[in-house]
Amino acid sequence: MIKAITGVKDALPSDISKWRMIEETVRNYFNLFNYKEIRTPIFEETALFKRGIGEETDIVGKEMYTFLDRSKTSLTLKPEMTASVVRAFIEHSLGSIQPLNKLFYISPMFRQEKPQAGRYRQFHQFGAEALGCSSPFLDAEMIQIAYDILTNFGLKNLTVKINSIGVPESREAYKTKLKEYLADKTEQLSEESQKRFETNILRILDSKDERDQKLLEGAPIILDYLDEKSKDDFELVKQALALTGLPYEIDPKLVRGLDYYTNTTFEIVSNSVGSQSALCGGGRYDLLIGLLGGKPTPGVGFAAGIERIILACENEGCFNLPEDSIDFYIVRLDKELTGKAYEYAAQLRRSNYVVELDYSEKSVKAQMREANKCNCKYALFVGGEEFKEGKAGLKNMQNGEQQLVSLENLVSEIKTLSEK
Ligand code: AMP
Repeated sequence: MIKAITGVKDALPSDISKWRMIEETVRNYFNLFNYKEIRTPIFEETALFKRGIGEETDIVGKEMYTFLDRSKTSLTLKPEMTASVVRAFIEHSLGSIQPLNKLFYISPMFRQEKPQAGRYRQFHQFGAEALGCSSPFLDAEMIQIAYDILTNFGLKNLTVKINSIGVPESREAYKTKLKEYLADKTEQLSEESQKRFETNILRILDSKDERDQKLLEGAPIILDYLDEKSKDDFELVKQALALTGLPYEIDPKLVRGLDYYTNTTFEIVSNSVGSQSALCGGGRYDLLIGLLGGKPTPGVGFAAGIERIILACENEGCFNLPEDSIDFYIVRLDKELTGKAYEYAAQLRRSNYVVELDYSEKSVKAQMREANKCNCKYALFVGGEEFKEGKAGLKNMQNGEQQLVSLENLVSEIKTLSEK
């Protein structure tokens, strides 16, 4: 039997109401903040991600789904969205249409990571990118949207972590200090961090390895190396967050290891989801658009993982979704009347009622069982003496009340009834 690929998940009908609730909330919040939706293709030229995410990252180094198509072009299933949004922004000259483009997305992403709870190979993110404004208020706005969405779901065990990594020039001084600090400790670092010591020393700060974290306890912190402008901007981000009472912690180890990231970085973690605790991450990337060939334009964004949010919501008992229900179940009392039942169902559906009926010649009793199972508001009985008189029995399934309705004016009679 062919099964789904390791690390991917089906969303079955029983899960869909959770997905829909999340997607609706996300759309609603982005609308409140005046972000417009963007959809980009599932695959792009591999070079876009190599340049836009960075060759030294885990994503590009080991996780991308990359393949040659029939014309031998190297393509990659998108592992994240920023590079694609920036590509579209440049390609369609969105910056010349309006100075600030506030964009959001909901999309599947693909990374060949080791699957575990909260980490999949196809997963879904919602997120935003605001291109064209370097105000720290916009950084705060990003954090605010993400936080508001997560708290709107009812999530409680959240921590917002923020940091600033300044600009590449001042970061160099910090990297030198960090290198000096770790120079006589390299042998005690994890294997991965030993490699990063040479290739991308900042990423050692992200290490999940406890030995690395212990060694970093006395390390210099990046916030002490910020240039004046970055310091002021970071103060403004904090002030803006304070204006709405958004609680945050400063985490000087929250870094992005690439040169085109600037200033703010942030993450929202939940302690309800085990080891994969980051629900969302983002930051400012003022140098990325220039790097990808566009006119230098500031940008800031975030991405949040939907599967992890669902996990957190389940673990915190946040889902309080209404039970599925339908308006009418048409119970046909006589097999010969299937066509008639089909016709009435069509009439009701055209008037926006949700209708179900049986095509498999079930007995009346079995049809009633189905009617109960699909939690219908009314059962409509088509057949018997009433039918000969042009009428059908209508049973209110909530209070058991029954009455007759004329089949000739079925929809209008039902409308009058439901308005009562
Ligand atoms: P990133 O794009 O790596 O900054 O990730 C942003 C968010 O996407 C994370 O905080 C997670 O919630 C989610 N995420 C990232 N990778 C995965 C994955 N492999 N499976 C599920 N969710 C993920």
